[in-house]
Amino acid sequence: MLRLTDLALPLDHTPADLEQAVCERLGIAPGDLERLTVARRGNDARRKAAIKLVYSFDVIVRDEAEVLARFADDPHVRPTPDTSYKFVTRAPDGYEGPRPVVIGAGPCGLLAALVLAQMGFKPIIIERGKAVRERTKDTWGLWRRSVLDPESNVQFGEGGAGTFSDGKLYSRIKDQRHLGRKVLTEFVKAGAPDDILTEAHPHIGTFRLVTMVMSMRETIEKLGGEYRFQTRVEDFEVEEGEDGTRRLAGLHLSTGEYLPASHVIMAVGHSARDTFHVLRDRGVHIEAKPFAIGVRIEHPQSWIDKARYGPNAGNDILGAAAYSLSHKCSNGRTVYSFCMCPGGRVVAATSEEGRVVTNGMSQYSRAEFNANSGLVVDIDPERDYPGDPLAGIAFQRKFEELAFKAGGSNYKAPGQKLGDFLEDKPSAEFGEVTPSYQPGVHLTDLKQCLPDFVIESIREALPVFGRQVPGYDHPDVVMTGVETRTSSPVRITRGRDFQSLNTRGLYPAGEGAGYAGGILSAAVDGIRVAEALALELVPGFDKL
Ligand code: FAD
Repeated sequence: MLRLTDLALPLDHTPADLEQAVCERLGIAPGDLERLTVARRGNDARRKAAIKLVYSFDVIVRDEAEVLARFADDPHVRPTPDTSYKFVTRAPDGYEGPRPVVIGAGPCGLLAALVLAQMGFKPIIIERGKAVRERTKDTWGLWRRSVLDPESNVQFGEGGAGTFSDGKLYSRIKDQRHLGRKVLTEFVKAGAPDDILTEAHPHIGTFRLVTMVMSMRETIEKLGGEYRFQTRVEDFEVEEGEDGTRRLAGLHLSTGEYLPASHVIMAVGHSARDTFHVLRDRGVHIEAKPFAIGVRIEHPQSWIDKARYGPNAGNDILGAAAYSLSHKCSNGRTVYSFCMCPGGRVVAATSEEGRVVTNGMSQYSRAEFNANSGLVVDIDPERDYPGDPLAGIAFQRKFEELAFKAGGSNYKAPGQKLGDFLEDKPSAEFGEVTPSYQPGVHLTDLKQCLPDFVIESIREALPVFGRQVPGYDHPDVVMTGVETRTSSPVRITRGRDFQSLNTRGLYPAGEGAGYAGGILSAAVDGIRVAEALALELVPGFDKL
């Protein structure tokens, strides 16, 4: 099979046009084209009046060797790569060795557990939050009734932080082994739409994510895996050998149980602040890491569609438009858009009482009225929270508390209109843009809950972004705060064997450990770590 890449066609092309374009590009007669499947589809919207769909195809032709020879120097005509997943090892029949434990049922823990189960290792999955259906009710509880359950919310519970999200599934990680493809294939088996395998910027949306997570749980359980919900890992038992080597021996659980465990994947996400403190107290190597802080910004989706797609705005094939912006400020900081959710809503994303955190989500249809994204400024430990490896957590908490107060101390988010923000005055009433955040937005002055350098940087960036996306800096645009959970404030450093630098048997993984940012990269990291752990238990047939 051949992979033909980078073939552009007009938006309104027909299926017959596809075949014709492929035959013309390959210089073959229509009768020589035996099969054509779309491998990938994106769009090129640089010329708004003539937006093109850009395809990669997998093609079976009558004489493949002849075509390949003719295109030997053309990087866009190549044999189709083998993207199938190959297990690195398997548990032998009747395996009676240690049972791997996975802490956290987010995308990282879920894929780690799935791959371990598929290899025959029957993992135990420990999750502090509730199973996803019950968790959904609790999450809605904060949005609709201002009642937060600190153990069952947007951050904690089956499915992890990405469950109530836009479900964007792309990432810039290097992925030579096509592990991202394994993740997407498993998602499709669990009920995700097929198009995530071909779209250049796939997304799933919240409702589907909920059912997918349940379906993946069923698969893991059928393979002998075991889930324990509403069970928090509270402490780690670490033993020190005579040679000074530290090794994980077991886990103390919130149920009062002690679980002996020698091989543990720790995929706790970036909001497990209590767990980070325990790890530090147990001497596990942990260091501060950069992240970003800022606000959520909301525009009517129609403004973004018009700015991005011009006369093609609203075309169903293109869907709701997204953007990605970045500006290097004169103060040395970078302001950038983060986790953009077309046609979605801003959500309350705190996991701790007395704090306000914003984030965004959408459904598969992306049909809600507003577009939103984080508008954040980079921060780093040396400059902004030096000294303690956990100082980034204190930094986040400080501004989340200030946001809670500025919003009225009732989980409403503090908000400000963009025009007022630029003029340095508090907002009093909404204009053309109605914000979507529930339980509500309290108009005020965002200066109260963000560091000065963040305010200064965002003020500089807004007009620049307005020139790139007309309407972006309209005075009625609403910004809410604060966006603090952009990525983990710590790294639980691991060695080449994927184990903690100083605690054997502990495999830090995913976003919380500082090795991923987003659903796809966290899931891919889960697979990598599961493979490393499995190879430690049963030497395999392949090198990682
Ligand atoms: P998490 O998903 O955070 O999972 C960690 C799990 O560990 C949680 O379920 C938690 O309850 C559990 N846990 C924590 N501590 C303990 C403990 N001590 N004992 C037992 N269990 C514990 N990313 C995208 O790529 N696309 C998006 O569209 C997107 N939108 C998002 C929208 C929102 C509202 C949020 C909050 C995040 C979004 N993200 C998105 C980010 C994405 O969700 C995360 O990057 C991803 O979930 C990280 O996966 P993870 O498995 O490493 O950690």
